[in-house]
Amino acid sequence: MSAAEGGKPRAAGSRFVTSITRQSEDFPAWYTDVVRKAEMADYSPVRGSMVIRPYGYAIWEHLRDALDGMIKETGHSNAYFPLFIPKSLLDKEAEHVEGFNPQVAWVTRAGGKELDEPLAVRPTSEAIIAAVVKDWIQSYRDLPLLLNLWNNVVRWELRTRLFLRTAEFLWQEGHTFHATEPEAREETARMLGVYRRLSEEWLAIPVLEGRKTAAERFPGAVDTLTIEALMRDRKALQAGTSHYLGDNFSRAEGIEFLDRDNVRRNPHGTSWGLSTRMVGAVVLAHGDDDGLVLPPRVAPYHAVVVPIWRRDEERAAVEGAIERLQAMLAGEGSSAAAAGLGVRGVRLHVDRRDDVTPGAKFAHWELRGVPFRIEVGPRDVAAEQAVLVRRMDRAKETMPLAALAVELPGRLEQYQADLFARAVSFRDENTHRVDSYDDFKAVLEERGGFLLGHWCGSEACERQISEETGATIRIVPLEAEPEEGVCLIDGGRSTQRVVFARAY
Ligand SMILES: [Zn+2]
Repeated sequence: MSAAEGGKPRAAGSRFVTSITRQSEDFPAWYTDVVRKAEMADYSPVRGSMVIRPYGYAIWEHLRDALDGMIKETGHSNAYFPLFIPKSLLDKEAEHVEGFNPQVAWVTRAGGKELDEPLAVRPTSEAIIAAVVKDWIQSYRDLPLLLNLWNNVVRWELRTRLFLRTAEFLWQEGHTFHATEPEAREETARMLGVYRRLSEEWLAIPVLEGRKTAAERFPGAVDTLTIEALMRDRKALQAGTSHYLGDNFSRAEGIEFLDRDNVRRNPHGTSWGLSTRMVGAVVLAHGDDDGLVLPPRVAPYHAVVVPIWRRDEERAAVEGAIERLQAMLAGEGSSAAAAGLGVRGVRLHVDRRDDVTPGAKFAHWELRGVPFRIEVGPRDVAAEQAVLVRRMDRAKETMPLAALAVELPGRLEQYQADLFARAVSFRDENTHRVDSYDDFKAVLEERGGFLLGHWCGSEACERQISEETGATIRIVPLEAEPEEGVCLIDGGRSTQRVVFARAY
């Protein structure tokens, strides 16, 4: 096919052939196809570890920058701690070491000889931070200490999935120390709120907030708060956790400060983390049969322009129109409008490949979830207009070029809001109240989603449900309506419903 024929438009209304498994046919295969064929991530020579490709990394960068801003706005400073943690430090907090030990990778040999003490490749940094800040925290004046680290951690996983569960992943881990328990608990809740904002306002993923049961708690924590989201296959995904650590780590390490009343006390700690798993959540929460559907605020491109032309003189005219559009979008008015979305201007990409048909380009960018496609052909140029197509529902409209430059930032904001509203509806349609164990099992099998049921608080009941159905208690809601009921398993007394689901 010659380059000139490459501009031939496809028949209107046709669907574009894509080579990915349909979501409705095989959800796990669809997920892997999307992640690999949209060039977000790839497998690596290291078992269980992934390569994040530029398109996937750009999504991570946008969400990372947003989260970093919120972490700084709430008073925290970024710092860095070592990758290697001496075994003796990990051993200090008993529950912590017991919880993490099976997943820790150890360095036992370096510099050509056996090490005197094995070094853990950090699975998380509570232990090494406690050992170091012991010297920084002497008085109540040194508190609160509010740190955040952006780094990578290693947790040896046997069954891995790109972004969702990998042996090595990127994340931020916040670590704070406070003079009192109420202050530390307030911090734990505040950072959960930050995660909620990131998920809902940036990723358009609605979440439920709550507390983990003792069985699901972070090893070494007194209390673990979490946000949980529902994916398109009606399974839950834990999207971020925030832990109140009590004085467990500071007692284990002997961190003490002289309080205002001249009494020596152990500070209360928190830690909280959110990882590259969230990039997988974006795929699972919004994608469809044709691939990714990205929220504009974290999309690498907001809009892709596909030039359509047959003859060289048409090409020149189309190019001219696209250049005018680019100039208008780079203008001050458009940039200012984009600020409403929280981004620095519209991220526009022009697909000028001349050996690819427009139809193939449409499929290429639909797979990659670009919110808007702008088609500019010779007839459009003659009328000084373009065709705008929305990825999430393929709504199509023809607009004058000048209007398009002015309207696009607003359309992106609307898209962000519509995507969130769609996810909220999906979540609500897939949330069910169940009042008997038979009902629970039937709804779980036939419909999935979040199941709201009564639980007496016993670990035995919790374990039985998990073993028999594969569903776990995702959260105990923080501010649930009090409601008297009886436990699904043993009929024991319950005062509020908890949220069950099968989960990633
Ligand atoms: Zn029970």
